[in-house]
Amino acid sequence: MPPARSWRSYPQTYRLEAGRCTSCGAVYFPPRLICSQCKGREFETFSMKRTGKVLTHTVIRTPSAAFAGDAPFAVAIVEMDDGVRLTTQVVDADFEEIRIGLPVKLEFRRVYSEGDAGVINYGYKAVPVRS
Ligand SMILES: [Zn+2]
Repeated sequence: MPPARSWRSYPQTYRLEAGRCTSCGAVYFPPRLICSQCKGREFETFSMKRTGKVLTHTVIRTPSAAFAGDAPFAVAIVEMDDGVRLTTQVVDADFEEIRIGLPVKLEFRRVYSEGDAGVINYGYKAVPVRS
């Protein structure tokens, strides 16, 4: 990811900041400039909950080049407890363990490294919540 784009994504990547439409309450992650529900342009920023559940999932066996060394890996659409939905890797879990409704929490992990200098990009990944 180019440095400028990476820098602009810091609030989402490191503080998990989402946007809530002040007109209709729709939530977006990453935040948007215009609400797709009501066309509103006013948003309030909030840090989303770290816990949620798996809505659907799959296993990636043929990833893009940046993730080639990680295959196979699990990816899920996760709905956080405040309604935000995001796509993320699911780690620290056997593929058979991942199911719809599985409680997860977001943790910061290494996502990928890039370039000859091996710049490491961090981000969030979902980890099962085990009681
Ligand atoms: Zn709205």
